[in-house]
Amino acid sequence: MLQNGWDTFEIGTILRPFEGSISDASAILPEDRLYSQSNSFSVSVADWRIEKPLFNKDLCIDCQFCWIYCPDMSIISRDKKMVAVDYDHCKGCGICVQVCPTTPKALLMFPEQKDEEEALLEWPKKEKKEKEN
Ligand code: SF4
Ligand code: SF4
Repeated sequence: MLQNGWDTFEIGTILRPFEGSISDASAILPEDRLYSQSNSFSVSVADWRIEKPLFNKDLCIDCQFCWIYCPDMSIISRDKKMVAVDYDHCKGCGICVQVCPTTPKALLMFPEQKDEEEALLEWPKKEKKEKEN
């Protein structure tokens, strides 16, 4: 099949995101949607990332700020609970880390090659509050 490059399309060309017709994509989980070849969901667009956000579920309060603010829809949330980061699409911008309100944060940026288990061991610990007399 002939594949066009971005500079060969006619003005006004429509790139359809899905195969066939989908009336309500929001009702279908991303992994269950039938994406077209021109949809960037089907390819990794994150191979130039140099830092990645890692997630510490023990600190998360499921506020969903990261999900709301991520500009690439790369926070995976199910039933209003933060589940994971989609590393095929995350660009490593760090916005999710900036908006995470917990102390310490439940998301932190680490170098791309960082081992997740190792990062969790190095995570800042929660400070215990001193009891007032
Ligand atoms: S680093 Fe940026 S792109 Fe990646 S999950 Fe966080 S907000 Fe989204
Ligand atoms: S912003 Fe932080 S606390 Fe809120 S859901 Fe995301 S990871 Fe959890």
